[in-house]
Amino acid sequence: MNIGLLALQGAVSEHKIIMRQLDVNTIEVREGKDIDQLDGLIMPGGESTTLRKLLKNSNMWKRIKNSKLPIMGTCAGAILLGKCEDETFAKMDIEIDRNYYGRQKDSFEAKINLENDESFNGVFIRAPAIKNIGRKVKPIAWKNDEIVGCIDGKNMALTFHPELTKDTRFHEIWINLIYNK
Ligand code: GLN
Repeated sequence: MNIGLLALQGAVSEHKIIMRQLDVNTIEVREGKDIDQLDGLIMPGGESTTLRKLLKNSNMWKRIKNSKLPIMGTCAGAILLGKCEDETFAKMDIEIDRNYYGRQKDSFEAKINLENDESFNGVFIRAPAIKNIGRKVKPIAWKNDEIVGCIDGKNMALTFHPELTKDTRFHEIWINLIYNK
């Protein structure tokens, strides 16, 4: 298993710790050639405008855009996976509203519901919202009636930060998806 962890900005080491708990080795990815040997890539949260700039400067933007590499995107990573007014990879058929929760309540914790499983503690940090989703997109996580996590093919977008909890379930869902377990 070769899972890349985009290490340009944001919560990187936390994802690594979760993956280690799942017995998955991660490789920190900082330049274009690093992505060639990967089975999947985690795009962490941070700031999507900065991430976009750094991805372009390090010659990774086009490479990722043109590849079929499965991606798990959290928060800013989810923004880049979906579609919004700004340029994104648009790999998932979901519309993203970038600054949905506004400035005042820009960070909070909330209960996330999963299908047929116990709830999850969601950490939302200046989080975006998932607005419309395409027909082939599968919602997997809800906050009240808002979709906060979904899957399209082998890509997974979460508007919250699962790496900031000790709960490994969302990472596990994505790993199982990639390796068809
Ligand atoms: N609001 C940020 C953005 O627009 C995302 C915040 C996050 O990743 N925690 O990119």
